[in-house]
Amino acid sequence: MKPERQEFFRNLLNERLEALIKDAESGVGDLVSEKENLPDSIDLATQESNRDFTLRMRDRERKLIYKIREAIGRIEEGEYGECVVCGEDISEGRMLARPVTTHCIDCKTEAEQQERVRGL
Ligand SMILES: [Zn+2]
Repeated sequence: MKPERQEFFRNLLNERLEALIKDAESGVGDLVSEKENLPDSIDLATQESNRDFTLRMRDRERKLIYKIREAIGRIEEGEYGECVVCGEDISEGRMLARPVTTHCIDCKTEAEQQERVRGL
């Protein structure tokens, strides 16, 4: 990948990382104020499932933050944009759609098919 494209993706990833961290921080604030402002009539089950949802979201956010940091690491190593399986360049369209991807479309498709066979 050309240095200017690497720079483009580095900025893109950094922006996403900052947005995610900001979201995660404001999410913590929401949990605290939610507890204080709960109307008496609120259904406890709804309240609980909302919190589960928030926690699941956080888990996804955490994983995404981890993936973005890894991707930035790969830019530093000069390996960004290469498939970790076959070493081919991943198409730029795919990188734009999914900047944290580590697999070219062929290897990704194959991995997904194997997962399906194993029943995962
Ligand atoms: Zn590949």
